[in-house]
Amino acid sequence: MENNSFSILKRDGSSENFSLDKIMNAIIKAFKSVGETADLCSISKVLSNLDIHNGITVEDIQNQVEVSLMREGYYHVAKSFMLYRQQHTEDRETLDKIKFLSDYCNAANAATGSKYDANANVENKNIATLIGELPKSNFIRLNRRMLVERIKKMYDKETADKYIDLLTHHFIYKNDETSLANYCASITMYPWLIGGTTAIGGNSTAPTNLKSFCGGFVNMVFMVSSMLSGACATPEFLMYLNYFIGQEYGLDYYKRADEVVDLSLKKRTIDKVITDCFEQIVYSINQPTGARNYQAVFWNVAYYDRYYFESLFGNFYFPDGSSPDWNGLDWLQRRFMTWFNAERTKTVLTFPVETMALLSENGEPKDKEYGEFTAEMYAAGHSFFTYLSDNADSLSSCCRLRNEIQDNGFSYTLGAGGVSTGSKSVLTINLNRTIQNAVNNNKDYMEELGKVVDLCHKVQLAYNENLKELQKNGMLPLFDAGYITMNRQYLTIGVNGLVEAAEFMGLEINDNPKYKKFVQDILGLIEKYNKAYRTKDILFNCEMIPAENVGVKHAKWDREDGYFVPRDCYNSYFYIVEDDSLNIIDKFKLHGAPYIEHLTGGSALHLNLEEHLSKEQYLQLIRVAAKEGCNYFTFNIPNTICNDCGTIDKRYLKECPHCHSKNVDYMTRIIGYLKRVSNFSEARQKEADRRYYAHKDALKA
Ligand SMILES: [Zn+2]
Repeated sequence: MENNSFSILKRDGSSENFSLDKIMNAIIKAFKSVGETADLCSISKVLSNLDIHNGITVEDIQNQVEVSLMREGYYHVAKSFMLYRQQHTEDRETLDKIKFLSDYCNAANAATGSKYDANANVENKNIATLIGELPKSNFIRLNRRMLVERIKKMYDKETADKYIDLLTHHFIYKNDETSLANYCASITMYPWLIGGTTAIGGNSTAPTNLKSFCGGFVNMVFMVSSMLSGACATPEFLMYLNYFIGQEYGLDYYKRADEVVDLSLKKRTIDKVITDCFEQIVYSINQPTGARNYQAVFWNVAYYDRYYFESLFGNFYFPDGSSPDWNGLDWLQRRFMTWFNAERTKTVLTFPVETMALLSENGEPKDKEYGEFTAEMYAAGHSFFTYLSDNADSLSSCCRLRNEIQDNGFSYTLGAGGVSTGSKSVLTINLNRTIQNAVNNNKDYMEELGKVVDLCHKVQLAYNENLKELQKNGMLPLFDAGYITMNRQYLTIGVNGLVEAAEFMGLEINDNPKYKKFVQDILGLIEKYNKAYRTKDILFNCEMIPAENVGVKHAKWDREDGYFVPRDCYNSYFYIVEDDSLNIIDKFKLHGAPYIEHLTGGSALHLNLEEHLSKEQYLQLIRVAAKEGCNYFTFNIPNTICNDCGTIDKRYLKECPHCHSKNVDYMTRIIGYLKRVSNFSEARQKEADRRYYAHKDALKA
């Protein structure tokens, strides 16, 4: 071995001139550490076994030194050398954490500072959020290892290697890898109604009156959320609240809303008692939560028109044998929505995320009153999702899932059919990279995509087995207590980069036959696998994930690796979000039946508008959605928040209408959550800047 002037590769990726002295010193130290002296003869024997070449890594040299020491019979020295290396590895990990800690402290806000989760719904940076961030890299390693071991057991090492290969080369992305819990759930509250929280490890008993319902509900949602990594939907929330109000003030309480029922000095009316309940629950749930590292819980609720109500709760009975009362619920839904809309001019309230479920018939909302009410609420500046379907067999009951309720009869042990559902795990395919990689290598991209989709299903089945094992060991009380059910929760295949892949293929992104066929081929292929892998215990679905977090990462990684990347954040829509040549009707068309038919999860259309429309105009757009078969949408008009006087205005304004300050911030929807733009991560703020908000005139086209 000669001491030539070649370079070695250090751990941080930089190069350094090779130095024989450094190796010799390390060996001498190792000898000394076990009380032996290293003479020149033994050192040169150890050195003579090394094979050093240009570009060799430090790790490789150290491995060779270990082997060489053992070959020469210096076992004690070799052992000491290994321990020394191990110690240094641990030191480096600690130093990495310290660097992360100081980077986090210096980041502009919590979302930018979070290396792993730019969607983290955290307003402030502090010691609690930092504590949440630090172990995330360990969780990622742990989750990968657990999946790899399971895949090896169920399939083979090759499949496990392929998973890690696709993951590290960003063909696929495992969502929420920083958490150990299953993803999101739309729960039934029935087990809580009959037994309190004891079955999930709490100590509160079943709610018996309005007061214990409100307090207990907040606790229950916190407990459930701490066992999920994503959202918790409570589709029965208002239906139960209506029940307890009825118990207290009679079923016809809403007809006597002005009646004074509080004999204290406050002299509250029934209406005031009810809105005080809203206030208690909504403000409590929007608080940062200790158990979730200072995030608020992600809480979703749903409203139903008469037809949805009947198909969901038509066979439901409360423990006392009574049925849910539509008239009371109808009033309560309207009251909650108008209250929440007004409350949002006082303060930023992100949760609950609301979905209005409407049944459509012949291009019209079947329940005319609810169609009108929905349009009215949009015109009043309220921000919520509408789920529209022409059959009551599907329902958006979770953050982004629809759920077949046709074949789900009422189950007394579970409470309500069609409610306890959700997604256990989301594994997302980077379509842009997968398709480009195939085309660049002269391969059939459908065939290559098929291989990736197939692997994703195997990985998800492995995840499912790991989850079942956790359940077997008593770690998943939400399932055991019946809030959710293992075989009614989906394994989700997410897609990202669909529009970008189509652009790469030279397609025009508008409603044209070639683009339509491309979308149908890709999503149809995934659906084919979803059906093939489906069993009576395992359900798969496919969704276009609300991808501003993953979308930014994919675009960055793909650009670094030389792929065609037309924008800094891959779309979550079937159109290009910054394309101002498309009008509102075009966008409904591009989220219409032909495009979404193979998506079994959500693909919410976010229509970004510059100003609010009239009730008539919104009603017209709901009809357009019904006609085009667009089943999930919202309107997004940025709200203005004055940084000086705190005024919140539902309009998109350049200056505060109250104090005329130009120091204003905006509140808009990102991944479905209404949030202050200044609290987005830096990448997301740029995306929000480029967002195009359509002018009212775009309607006329
Ligand atoms: Zn102001």
